[in-house]
Amino acid sequence: MKSKSLLSHFLTLYVLLAFLAGIVVPSLSVWLGAYAFRDLQVHRRQADLENLCESLTELYIEEGGVWNTSRVKDVLRPAPRWGGMRITLFDADDNEIYTLKPFIMTHNNNNNNHSRPESEHITMKLGRDKIKNIGRLEIERRIPSGRYEISYITYLIRYNLAGALIMIVAACGLGFIVAGRLSRPVIKAIERTRDISHGEYDSNEEIKSIGIRELDELTKCVEDLGRTLAGQEKLRRRLMVDVAHELKTPLTVARTQIEAIADGILEPTPERLELCVNEMQRLGGLIENVVALTRLEGESLIIHKERTDMKKFLEPVIESFMPLFEKSNIALTSQLENNIACEIDTNKFRNVIDNLLSNAQRYTNSGGQVNLRLYRVNNSALIQVSDTGIGIAEKDLPNIFERFYRTDESRTRITGGSGVGLAIVKASVEAHGGKISVTSQKDQGSTFTITLPVA
Ligand code: ADP
Repeated sequence: MKSKSLLSHFLTLYVLLAFLAGIVVPSLSVWLGAYAFRDLQVHRRQADLENLCESLTELYIEEGGVWNTSRVKDVLRPAPRWGGMRITLFDADDNEIYTLKPFIMTHNNNNNNHSRPESEHITMKLGRDKIKNIGRLEIERRIPSGRYEISYITYLIRYNLAGALIMIVAACGLGFIVAGRLSRPVIKAIERTRDISHGEYDSNEEIKSIGIRELDELTKCVEDLGRTLAGQEKLRRRLMVDVAHELKTPLTVARTQIEAIADGILEPTPERLELCVNEMQRLGGLIENVVALTRLEGESLIIHKERTDMKKFLEPVIESFMPLFEKSNIALTSQLENNIACEIDTNKFRNVIDNLLSNAQRYTNSGGQVNLRLYRVNNSALIQVSDTGIGIAEKDLPNIFERFYRTDESRTRITGGSGVGLAIVKASVEAHGGKISVTSQKDQGSTFTITLPVA
């Protein structure tokens, strides 16, 4: 089916409505009204005739069983509604007593084309069982030609037509205005989606509200889509650059070593070969981190949250780190409040705590202290990992959650990683609807605080 524009849909609808409201509905009501009006007239006339018979019968009784013509005249004459009828009174032997000539008929005699006569007889009877015939009334009536009704209806239809025409013109105008108002944002949304599908994610155009909730939401959603895609595209590009940069270092180190060995410049000593193996391992670790990070930052971040008692969740994690801390001669302590539950994906959140604790262990010197604290503030659960380690310089603080960012101090430490851990931690915490922040003082220690909504 060929699809029509919003404008033509609206115009068709409005004209149809104007036609219904301006022609169909009034015509129906005029026709039904005229019909009911005629019906009412017939019933009323019938009742009047019955009354007339009763009056005549009473008169007959009063006159002692004879028809008094002059009194009959008096009974018939005052009824102006008999204007359209010829009424003749006959006695029981069918002799004419009196005839009331119709007023309209005399005037219409020459112009009878529009009406036809219809006669009716009403016999008047006396007695309890109504068996004594005292006479009859012959009513000859001209059925109204409907001339007046027709001209009345014609007028009505004419006015209705004029009204309908005005309505149709107004409907077209309204249709244009409404359809224009509705179609403008839709067309804009179509254009934006087209731009987005061509890779033009960012738009400098300001979003204006048109006051129609659904359409405002549509525009906003399309803009959000563009922004999200733009963000993801930026992430993808940055990740590519970062990954390439990070992979280059271990690759170059290993390649120079291997090339020198192959050229016979260096001896293939076990130490040199081990260095190459280490660099390869570093490469492997980096690739694993990159995969994890892409999964967390990309669209494939799927977390299966379940209500978890945080104290019960943290205790075994701390337990598992104890041997490592003991080996490094660092005291690991904890203060965990009871009855704090959060919605977490236990696997993913375990990685978060692992990362923070292993960083604390790596960047704290022997004899230092690491503390894990769980407490509640209003509707938030706070998990704090603080250490008395090497700390982070103020200039580095804003960057440590960036991918592959490592402080100069950590680069010089043999324990340093690839600089991806905290980026993964941040992405994961945010995917849980939480936040992570850090405070630190050089050579004093650092405190990482996670804020999670309480379930
Ligand atoms: P890495 O694997 O290098 O530790 P992270 O993303 O986990 O990567 O951390 C990024 C950088 O932040 C680290 O290289 C280090 O410089 C700094 N950092 C992280 N945790 C601590 C900490 N507890 N104390 C001092 N510096 C830290």
